[in-house]
Amino acid sequence: MNFDSACYLLRFDDFCPTMSWPRWQPFQRLLEHYRIRPILAVIPHNEDASLMVDEPINGYWAHLRRLEAHGATIALHGFRHVCTAQGKGLIPLHADTEFAGVTEEQQVEWLRSGLEILRSHSLHPRLFVAPRHGFDDATLRALHAVDLPYLSDGLSHEPVRRGGVTWIPQQLWEPVEQSSGLWTICMHSNTATAAQFSRLERFLKLHAARFTNFDEICAHAKPVAPTISDNLYASAFLTRFRSRRIMQQIRRAPFSGVS
Ligand SMILES: [Zn+2]
Repeated sequence: MNFDSACYLLRFDDFCPTMSWPRWQPFQRLLEHYRIRPILAVIPHNEDASLMVDEPINGYWAHLRRLEAHGATIALHGFRHVCTAQGKGLIPLHADTEFAGVTEEQQVEWLRSGLEILRSHSLHPRLFVAPRHGFDDATLRALHAVDLPYLSDGLSHEPVRRGGVTWIPQQLWEPVEQSSGLWTICMHSNTATAAQFSRLERFLKLHAARFTNFDEICAHAKPVAPTISDNLYASAFLTRFRSRRIMQQIRRAPFSGVS
């Protein structure tokens, strides 16, 4: 598998029993129509009040089992999704996260407990997605300790191997046409607007054949070390991100999009 032509992967974050299922369903229908196999980032024990959008969904875990049976990849999305840690993460997009800066023992404990919860509902978590991109070297060691050596994050252009973990890059929050590389588009169905849905719909109409999935990447892509061009892209992205956030703070508008 090479990425001389662009390949895309879709990821949906913040699955928990109190997510909005009605907001998710149009996305589910769209993915089924185009036979897209997304990554679904599932919070095992949500305590983040901002994600308590609706009453707990009837049959939530059975819905997830069906989605996995139809080809979705289940990712472990943190543990409680409560972001009060302030360590410096390897992808420093946010000051407050759940994992970065927390002791390795605690991280192992959260990962183990989270995996147990998902597996107790007969799901098969395959990779880690850190809430707010917050993870550090201790997280990489903790992922090894619990035998989950894949994560979805990073600003490279193809899967890379760092700290003994395969990083499947995630660089987009909306579909944007690219010429080469592997691009993960991360979306949040709870908060996606009608315009964002339409943009995804139009993009899939044109590019559905260019979408890949986690299994295909694991089977065929050979993770490499990050290249100089990856590092340059990452530092340019972080600079743009910080400038945009400062401008938005000045205007007292909340930052939207990157989360
Ligand atoms: Zn999240």
